[in-house]
Amino acid sequence: MKAAFLRDFHKGLNIEETDIPSPGYKEVLVKVKASGLCASDLHIIDGILPSVSLNFTPGHEMAGEICELGEGVTGLELGSHVVASIDVTCGRCRFCLTGHTNLCRSLRRIGFEINGSHEEYAIVPENNIFPIDDSIPFEQAAVIPDAVVCMYHAIKNKGQVRAGDKVLILGTGGLGIQGIQIAKYFGAEVYATSRQDKKLEIAKQFGADEVINTAKCNLIEEIDRITNGEQCDVIFDNIGVKSSIEESLKMLRPGGKVVVVGYNDPEFEANYQEIVIKEKEIIGIRGSSREDLVEAIRLVEKGVVKPYIYQTYKLEQINEALENLRNGVSLGRTVVVFD
Ligand SMILES: [Zn+2]
Ligand SMILES: [Zn+2]
Repeated sequence: MKAAFLRDFHKGLNIEETDIPSPGYKEVLVKVKASGLCASDLHIIDGILPSVSLNFTPGHEMAGEICELGEGVTGLELGSHVVASIDVTCGRCRFCLTGHTNLCRSLRRIGFEINGSHEEYAIVPENNIFPIDDSIPFEQAAVIPDAVVCMYHAIKNKGQVRAGDKVLILGTGGLGIQGIQIAKYFGAEVYATSRQDKKLEIAKQFGADEVINTAKCNLIEEIDRITNGEQCDVIFDNIGVKSSIEESLKMLRPGGKVVVVGYNDPEFEANYQEIVIKEKEIIGIRGSSREDLVEAIRLVEKGVVKPYIYQTYKLEQINEALENLRNGVSLGRTVVVFD
């Protein structure tokens, strides 16, 4: 089979021929049909994630068909359409036992610390397999375990968005565009930002009530105008740079929350007065729990959320696709598809 390996940092991925792996005890072999590309893939290639080492296959948004069952696997069928949850968890720590599997003490992640889905066949632990209805196209299914469910966790659990909330989504890329749909589902009034008009047109199509081109206007003033000075209840920062978090605090109402989804700059500064006197909260999110994934799959199956895919590529084009993601040429999630 063909697989994309990370052999050196900063040099993209190498497409190589390798043996199709055999599933071990309680493992499943998945014929990968679609594998999403994420900004985290760029962080991996750049060597800035300390837990990630060389000589493995990245890819953490996987959809495909079960093609072989390892010993001891129960309750799964050959040929089923499935997605893979990213987090391989211990099942025994206090976080696993209380449903917060994304915080597992012994967490390893598909496509980060262990082999992922930028390859034709992938091994997945039985516990990470989530069946999905055959009617969902593979390229849309692939992005559920990351782009869709991260925003679902951010909006439902961390932002606790409810009907009537004024919600600002910073950045309408691979995650933001899914977030718009989810925040609308929870009844929010949604404002979306981008520096590209084309992305904002897409944001409108997916339900954004107001769109703001931050290359052309002052965002803080614009939010003040749109909300009649009330400011936002919850802000989702998919950009994750120093200025985006610091500006977010200025656009929140007292008691509001900024949920930080993107991660780029290592540090930011927060105004003491904004946090203490106005009880504003800065909340981080990482991935999602398994419970969230079950719910996110259901929302896609019901048609409430239609994962937006901007473009698909073949495995041979993966470095081109990653560069397009890095340079902002991609106007949404991009996915590698397999025959
Ligand atoms: Zn990701
Ligand atoms: Zn655990």
